[in-house]
Amino acid sequence: MQIYKFGGASVKDAEGVRNVAHIITQHKDKEQQLIIVVSAMGKTTNLLENLTKAYYNQDEQTHLYFEQVKEFHQNILEELFEDRTDAIYNDVSNLFVEIDWILEEAPQDTYDYLYDQIVSIGELVSSRIIEAFLRKQQIDSLWLDARNYIHTDNTFREGNVDWEKTERGILSSIPSLVEKHVLVTQGFIGSTSENFTTTLGREGSDYTAAIFAACLNASLVTIWKDVPGVLNADPKWFDATELIPELSYLDAIELTYYGATVIHPKTIKPLQNKGIALAVRSFVDLKNTGTIIKSTNSTLPVSSFIFKVNQVLISILPKDFSFIVEDNFSHIFDVFAKHRLKINMMHNSAVSFSVSVDYDEQHIVSLVKELRKQYDVEFKRDLELVTIRYHNQQTIERVLVNKKVIMQLQDNYTCQMLIQSIA
Ligand code: ASP
Ligand code: MG
Repeated sequence: MQIYKFGGASVKDAEGVRNVAHIITQHKDKEQQLIIVVSAMGKTTNLLENLTKAYYNQDEQTHLYFEQVKEFHQNILEELFEDRTDAIYNDVSNLFVEIDWILEEAPQDTYDYLYDQIVSIGELVSSRIIEAFLRKQQIDSLWLDARNYIHTDNTFREGNVDWEKTERGILSSIPSLVEKHVLVTQGFIGSTSENFTTTLGREGSDYTAAIFAACLNASLVTIWKDVPGVLNADPKWFDATELIPELSYLDAIELTYYGATVIHPKTIKPLQNKGIALAVRSFVDLKNTGTIIKSTNSTLPVSSFIFKVNQVLISILPKDFSFIVEDNFSHIFDVFAKHRLKINMMHNSAVSFSVSVDYDEQHIVSLVKELRKQYDVEFKRDLELVTIRYHNQQTIERVLVNKKVIMQLQDNYTCQMLIQSIA
């Protein structure tokens, strides 16, 4: 059994959906069982995010965003299904009606809850369209609602998976279904025990693919991407990037943990636990096999660079210049967790504790307010965090051109630097 994951970029238009059908017919052999996990099409999630924000603030833009989302999908539908009476038109419009119902009333619930109820529609629509198209192409497919399988707690926008319940549910029905059909389901979404929809965090569809794979002991997960595989740096920041043909689970976990966005960071661990390989390859260049992540002792053939922009350095100092001790740490970490800010890098000295986090205005303002009750808090914005895996002096110098180092941490394998542009 194999799992294929298709992200938003791979199904951003009708041509992308046709290509998915093409990949399935090309790569699936008769015996092989296949589950397809799909994301929302193109930039739909961003649009639905804007829609949710606008609705929450009761902004006039709300309906504009909604129209954009509907029109975008309508155009794709019309290109793929010339018969306007095809049931898919109705299925899609029924899903959008769920958003209509929410918008009819003023927001009563928390932002995070509303976000999940609205944004999840992107994946539901996308999977419906793709599944209907596969059937039209004579592929014997079946649509499944991932919310019946992926069970989470009530942490909206960042649902924590209840692995036991999820595995039990998947094992009780998927094996017999996948024997007969190509199963098509949604990435990114799950549901609580009260049947409210949750999401697993942005870009979480990779993680969904890994959850299904781990529960079913699949032989391989393939993430089809718009890049040739895992590269040693994001081409957005670096000209001369190199493809890494083979990667150990550990290197893959480290790279994604530090912010390599090619795979969602939660994806690797469940696969490593079950010894399932993960392929990352291009949906454009089908001859290229891309990167394979598996159990191997080989280290990266080249240094890898991960850039995180828009960092803020927060320095926390006891008001009386006393030492920072264990009690302070435990309190400080609690405050970060409570405000849902993830620490990307940290460093402590006798009288201060400094961390770098992604700049997220809303959460940082409330965090600083709370910390200031007990500490002096300073912060510095517009920084970049660079992580070099398998670094050397030359690679460090390469990223420091016109930059100065604000904070640096280094061990044998990894060098992390918080840097600022020299004006
Ligand atoms: N559609 C979601 C997002 O854009 C999930 C995903 O693409 O993996 O974040
Ligand atoms: Mg995406």
